[in-house]
Amino acid sequence: MARTIIEPFRIKSVEPIRQTTPEERAKLVAEAGYNLFQLHADDVMIDLLTDSGTGAMSAEQWAGVQRGNEAYAGSPSWFRFEGAVKALFPYKHVIPTHQGRAAEKILFTVLGGPDKIVPNNTHFDTTRANVEFTGAQAVDLLLPEGKDPALVAPFKGDMDVAALDRLLTEHGKAKVPVVFITVTNNSGGGQPVSLQNMRAVREVCTKHGVPLFFDACRFAENAWFIREREPGYADKDVKDIVREMAALADGMTMSAKKDGLANMGGWLALNDDDLALQCRNLLILTEGFPTYGGLSGRDLEAIAQGLEEVVHHDYLQYRIRSTGYLGDKLVASGVPIMRPVGGHAVYIDAKALLPHIPALEYPGQALAVALYVEGGIRSCEIGTVMFGQHPDGTETPAAMELVRLAIPRRVYTQSHVDYVVEVVQDVAARAKDLRGYRIAEAPPALRHFTARFAPL
Ligand SMILES: *Cc1c(COP(=O)(O)O)cnc(C)c1O
Repeated sequence: MARTIIEPFRIKSVEPIRQTTPEERAKLVAEAGYNLFQLHADDVMIDLLTDSGTGAMSAEQWAGVQRGNEAYAGSPSWFRFEGAVKALFPYKHVIPTHQGRAAEKILFTVLGGPDKIVPNNTHFDTTRANVEFTGAQAVDLLLPEGKDPALVAPFKGDMDVAALDRLLTEHGKAKVPVVFITVTNNSGGGQPVSLQNMRAVREVCTKHGVPLFFDACRFAENAWFIREREPGYADKDVKDIVREMAALADGMTMSAKKDGLANMGGWLALNDDDLALQCRNLLILTEGFPTYGGLSGRDLEAIAQGLEEVVHHDYLQYRIRSTGYLGDKLVASGVPIMRPVGGHAVYIDAKALLPHIPALEYPGQALAVALYVEGGIRSCEIGTVMFGQHPDGTETPAAMELVRLAIPRRVYTQSHVDYVVEVVQDVAARAKDLRGYRIAEAPPALRHFTARFAPL
């Protein structure tokens, strides 16, 4: 009989969870203007706001923190970091940054500009913002099946290669400085991209003479999905799958807060000497000297060690199973979620669960607040609150009303996840009693971080 897949670690240092009651939480969330970003994290019992930078480090990573060498130039910690990156991604130049968006900012400052176009399977929001900030256009070319939440398919992060070919035929390399593939597709639910699709994209890029880069934040989770789902990879080592991915591209941007298993950090890596020179010059301006970028020596050590741990099969099997476990239990209890479950999060379909709450009364917000009051769980609305506001002041419903339960790496155990399932079940059982919200106060842009709401 198949056994339970256990957490492949023992816990050696713990952080207490402050237990609160629904009455206390109702008061706390009202004081926060019903905006979960405004809560004190101490008032949250299970924090599923994001998987970014919220993971637990290993004993070896903490040992690395002690070993961190803080020399301004040429620190041994830098060489360990550079070696660990190149062991998986053998690009010629590695440029350390304080987090992923700093790598994006530097790359697009050099490559972007008005009348440039950057295609991606789906731009993550900071990537899109950094492309658009230069005046360039960010184009998402996801295959249509990736946009259907109920469709179960193995690689819903795949790019529409025919659409990419048409775009490159029309605009050419003069207008398209780089093509990006985001693995896994974060904004599309953490869905993986197949190696077959990456190869096809590579061919089109080569045909048009345009470089290909990865936004590689969840490269290890993507490689695990390839091992599990793509014919011919079941017996391969994840490290070799990662190297096979890396060999298809000319460079990458990375947030070490995801599959770096660190709390901070990132990098830009690439082969082109001239582009690397321009990027390093900008790095010195905004991040720091090229052997530390925006990072301390101890951060470089933690990331170097994290990169060794993140490709362990025991870790990845546990990681992907623990997200799938939450998703499977919710599906079994009849809670509508996006399928199949991606690598780092489960997305509840609030539109389907709360059909009586119109989009402009924010069903995702209503569900997120209810999960907090019921069980102290912090999730993230990804719907009309996040995407409904336009620069001209108008408001329209988002395409989907989702509530994301993002799973921090190595932080919560199976009993925490069982508790989350129970709380979601209890809220779902009284879904028809939940009411919507109106916005009482909001800034002109990015309102989801600071808006104040009032219950209807
Ligand atoms: C998190 C993330 C980024 C940005 O990285 P930060 O470290 O948060 O700046 C870029 N792309 C994707 C896909 C991400 O998930």
